[in-house]
Amino acid sequence: MSIALARKYRPKRFADVAVQSHVSTTLKGAIARGRVAHGYLLCGPRGVGKTTLARVLAMALNCERRTEAAKRLAEFDQGRGASDDDTVVVAPDRDRLASEASEPCGACASCTRIWSGAASLDVVEMDAASNRGVDDARDLRERAMYAPSGDEQYKVYIVDEAHMLTRDAWNALLKILEEPPPRVVFVFATTEPQKIAQAAAPVLSRLQRFDFKRIGPAEIRERLSHVLDEEHIAAEPEALVAISRAADGSMRDALSLTDQVLSMGEGKVTADRVRDALGLVPEDEFIAMLDVIAERRAADVFPAVGRLAEAGIDFGLFLTGLADMLRAQLAIVLGGAAPDVSERAREALESRRERFADADLLRMLQALAELEPRFRKSGQQQLLIETLLVRFALLDRSVELEDVLRSLGGGGGGGGSAPERTPSRRETSSQPSAAAPSSAKSYRAESPAPRPESAARPAPRAERSSAAPVAAMAAAPAQPLHAVTGEALELSKVTGRWDALTERLKGAGKQLLATALEHSSPVSVTAQGDVTIELDEPNDFFAHSITDGRGDILTVLREWFPAVQRVQLKIGAEGPGAPPKRLTDEMVRAERIAALRKRDPVLGAAIDALDLDVAD
Ligand SMILES: [Zn+2]
Repeated sequence: MSIALARKYRPKRFADVAVQSHVSTTLKGAIARGRVAHGYLLCGPRGVGKTTLARVLAMALNCERRTEAAKRLAEFDQGRGASDDDTVVVAPDRDRLASEASEPCGACASCTRIWSGAASLDVVEMDAASNRGVDDARDLRERAMYAPSGDEQYKVYIVDEAHMLTRDAWNALLKILEEPPPRVVFVFATTEPQKIAQAAAPVLSRLQRFDFKRIGPAEIRERLSHVLDEEHIAAEPEALVAISRAADGSMRDALSLTDQVLSMGEGKVTADRVRDALGLVPEDEFIAMLDVIAERRAADVFPAVGRLAEAGIDFGLFLTGLADMLRAQLAIVLGGAAPDVSERAREALESRRERFADADLLRMLQALAELEPRFRKSGQQQLLIETLLVRFALLDRSVELEDVLRSLGGGGGGGGSAPERTPSRRETSSQPSAAAPSSAKSYRAESPAPRPESAARPAPRAERSSAAPVAAMAAAPAQPLHAVTGEALELSKVTGRWDALTERLKGAGKQLLATALEHSSPVSVTAQGDVTIELDEPNDFFAHSITDGRGDILTVLREWFPAVQRVQLKIGAEGPGAPPKRLTDEMVRAERIAALRKRDPVLGAAIDALDLDVAD
């Protein structure tokens, strides 16, 4: 293959840009009506088509044939206005003209030059990561003042990684955008629009913003399938699944990875060939790893990871793959479908659904997300992976805690001290260890159908299983389960209702919220009717669930305690969860703003103004 696929199949028309039709349709319309803005901001993850669309826009603005078609279309429409009679006869011709007037031809000298990225007087591409100084911004400003090369040409500046521009650079750009020279268009592309909002909010309000969507695995598979068809190369569906997963939402990566696979062999593209070429981890390895975690075989983590290292797998891809598999397992545990895993993996996960609690999977996913930024830069990836998996294998399990609490509450054996965990313990041993407490025995005796792998698990650590939760459990059955109106609002009473509250929410289908509440407790109640909840341990997923679900909690609590006015979450002040929490909040906020913008551009402008206030 002489030309890289990513380059060979780079779209030449708006219509060919995958997934981002909400952006390309708007731009196409602007082109057709001759109403192109002076500045655009294209936001979205890497590899989703931001630069590609910017180039297509530049091509369209400078395409000789398109400009010609636009002129003829205008003449045609004027002529038709004079006499309506020939409308029927020439309608198809008008459609063709309209289409030609909104898309670059992709074949003229100008289109070819811009598409191939060859030096062009009229289209300047720059990477802000390497052009971020003040001098460059001044240079840019001076260059922007030059007229485009021809009367009908547009000068298009495409600035990639725009969030890397300095404040000074933005100031210089702001001056240009305030009084834009005719026929000059700036297109800024960024993966981190919130940084631009912080550094250059006033500029944002002068840009027309588009948020690109992440490209889903199904869309990537579809595109790969089309490209391979065109290349007359056969491929197994499973092979395309593997490539699309490794591409992680980036079409560009998907095509580069395909190149990599094709360069290392001939004939049909099989899943094995993809794994060998890309250093991917076979799905079976992930399933085996889930078993190691479920069965708490912490000691088995090291040889397993060692084997992967020897096989030369890419640990970054391993981490992504592990997250995919945990997410799929979570979807199945929650009773949903697991898209984007193979049929075989799905069956394997289905058969393991009893082995994991949703809350534990959430905690593992969160730990993975927290590790990721550090992981990419680390020179000790294998060690980080091993540590993470050992942590997973030793994680205190929600399921077990519940089991133990149930046995304590029901069997009257409460208060017994639980043993320290024995790390070398094997799940196959069905004999209670010497230190096994009476509570563990009573659990085995009373539980109707203990799962084999959990029967021999030791009880969680003493500090987690005793005291407060037990007290809460003991208090619960004493309360009548039907709603009684008009109870006085007291902390002990709210605590007593906590389990009933989670049950009600579960019954209402608020599974995630209920789980979050199971991992938290009410900590204070004020005379003004404020109920404050605190998480047992920092967890962003739970914190967001509770914050978002305050209305639901309030509704249910009011059935018992009409005096409740507000429900709030007490955020743990310190601890390891604090820094990522801030980041997550920002991300959530950014997402909400993006969603609001899509709904209402005027509101978007207002949000920009607000950002300015907040940032300053
Ligand atoms: Zn052209």
